[in-house]
Amino acid sequence: METADRSDAPVIVVLDGPAGTGKSTVSREIASRLGLSFLDTGAMYRAMTYWLLQNGVDVDDPEAVANASAKPVILSGTDASGPTITVDGQDVSGPIRGPEVTAAVSAVSAVAEVRTRLVELQRGSAHAAPRGIVAEGRDMGTVVFPAADLKVFLTASVDTRAARRAAQLGLQDPAEVAAIMADIERRDAADSGRATAPLRKADDAVEVDTSEMSPDEVIDHIIGLVRQRAAVPVSR
Ligand code: C5P
Repeated sequence: METADRSDAPVIVVLDGPAGTGKSTVSREIASRLGLSFLDTGAMYRAMTYWLLQNGVDVDDPEAVANASAKPVILSGTDASGPTITVDGQDVSGPIRGPEVTAAVSAVSAVAEVRTRLVELQRGSAHAAPRGIVAEGRDMGTVVFPAADLKVFLTASVDTRAARRAAQLGLQDPAEVAAIMADIERRDAADSGRATAPLRKADDAVEVDTSEMSPDEVIDHIIGLVRQRAAVPVSR
């Protein structure tokens, strides 16, 4: 890979935003094109939730969640060409996308002890990334990486987000799409309304409304922003 000028300081790029804005797809592709690591922090909250459900912890009892939150061993593999997520050594990349976890994850992620633990792991991943990282979630710019080189806040209308999620899941029935929209709205409200690290655009984040943009347009636009601000390798 050719490299332009450039210092060796690891680059930190963060993307935050509500559910269904395409953060994961876009972040992973940006990381891949720039030769950076990739961290899907939503997968970590989902992995924690999966473990709690599997182990019979009442996810609606914040004290029980807090008491159990140090137990699971959660590992994120940050290679953008094949990110992984394991809990106690088990690959949970499939089950964490299921409806049970999706329904419970916002309650779990509102618990401060859960966030403290996962934020530490997230910073550790960034620290270990050889060239830098693209991290996506809800509080990357506000809490986890306040000094990131570039902060992006992705938005899209709720209809667009529901339609995209439905397409990803291969659903066409209007009732199923409506159920997805209701779930997105419920999670947005919970994630934005919680006391600890609510979903919020950082003051110095660039907002990108993806409603009328293709994934490639979003990716190219953000890569342009990264290049304006940080020393990154030229890879394509
Ligand atoms: O991004 P994804 O939909 O996989 O995130 C699942 C949930 O994890 C979110 O709805 C939110 O409750 C939580 N989350 C969070 N902070 C992050 C990433 C995700 O609270 N940084």
